[in-house]
Amino acid sequence: MKVCKFGGTSMASADSIRLVKSIIESDPLRKFVVVSAPGKRFKSDRKITDLLYDAYSDNVKFGAVGSSLSEVSDRFSSIASELNIDIDIDSKMDEIEQEILKSSSPDYAASRGEYLCALVTAAYLNYQFVDAGELIKFRSNGTFDPETTKDHVCQLLSLDTGVVIPGFYGRMPDKTIKTFSRGGSDVTGAIIAYAINATVYENWTDVDGFMAVDPVIVAKPKQINYLSYTELRELSYMGAKVMHPDSVFPILSNGIPINIKNTFNPENEGTWILKSVENFERPVITGITGKTNNTMITMSKSMMNTELGFGRKVLSCLERNGVGFDHIPTGIDTMSVVIEGRLDDALMEKLVSDINRSVAPDTIEIEYLALIAVVGHGMAKRKGTAAKICSALYNADINIIMIDQGSSEMNVIVGVDNSDYECAVTALYSAFFQ
Ligand code: ASP
Repeated sequence: MKVCKFGGTSMASADSIRLVKSIIESDPLRKFVVVSAPGKRFKSDRKITDLLYDAYSDNVKFGAVGSSLSEVSDRFSSIASELNIDIDIDSKMDEIEQEILKSSSPDYAASRGEYLCALVTAAYLNYQFVDAGELIKFRSNGTFDPETTKDHVCQLLSLDTGVVIPGFYGRMPDKTIKTFSRGGSDVTGAIIAYAINATVYENWTDVDGFMAVDPVIVAKPKQINYLSYTELRELSYMGAKVMHPDSVFPILSNGIPINIKNTFNPENEGTWILKSVENFERPVITGITGKTNNTMITMSKSMMNTELGFGRKVLSCLERNGVGFDHIPTGIDTMSVVIEGRLDDALMEKLVSDINRSVAPDTIEIEYLALIAVVGHGMAKRKGTAAKICSALYNADINIIMIDQGSSEMNVIVGVDNSDYECAVTALYSAFFQ
């Protein structure tokens, strides 16, 4: 049995949903379908989920849901009428509006795009709609509950029809709706695949698969045919937007293969994401990705090396202020922490005064930099990858602000000035792939 998850662009319009239907009907194993909310149809379009978040925040600010909910209603009404489906969207929207007016968190509102999309898709495919709230369960502390979820999902195996399940959300023990983080329908698909022990988890999107580099920066890059679960994590976390980085956790134990496929070009084999890629011939480097505007806080203090507990105290400051960190490059008398994204000014001020109080550094400096990850199992126990990275950047006249290689030897991260980002990515791609 296959689990097929269709992303927002695949569900964006009646025309794309027709393509989804033809894909599902072309393979009788495609019985478990997970859908995202309709995404953008064109560049300036709005995603249904964004409109729903707006409806929630309009209610918080002004005590009413505003016009975004009518946009949601219009999108679903026109999809339903173009597909000739008899669903009373207006009464569903009235119900949703009433619930949003009572909600104390955005999760209920945000989840309704997937809910309505699954209702429409199930009717169109003649599959059974099964609410994610009845399947995906969270514990009262908000963590995902795999055992209870598996019990519920397994019951679907006895059905003799196909099922359509909304992605992105589940329920807490008190019955309130809770969503995963943005893009979380990928995680729902993986959970369903794990629970039914699917042969494949197909993730249908709007690109042919993972590319070796962002096609917005380098035209027509090489497609990645095989990727390991770990490489997927590294590439997705560091910026590749094809799949949610947490999608591998549910299927780690049974090692279900993930196949990224393009709804708009189903002939392409896509990218296979596997637990192990050892048996495949692959380049040394699998992919290059990155993101701009990360924060680096650098502290220096004379004789820092003799001050026991300096690092622990700095990390406690981060913890107290709810800030995670990605890297800690250090010198004898300096220590930097690299944090994903740009901290807002108020939080930064609080964090810096906490650090000053706790460790009294001589200086403390804040920089914003781009981080680029060069990822691939092929670099392990092999000479020359870091040398190639450094000379590619040197030849492109780019200064390396920091460099970090994980001890698993499958990832080298370099920090460069934000303004050098695209040039650095292009130089690294040419060095490894051209
Ligand atoms: N619709 C949600 C989002 O835009 C979840 C998803 O598409 O996976 O983040």
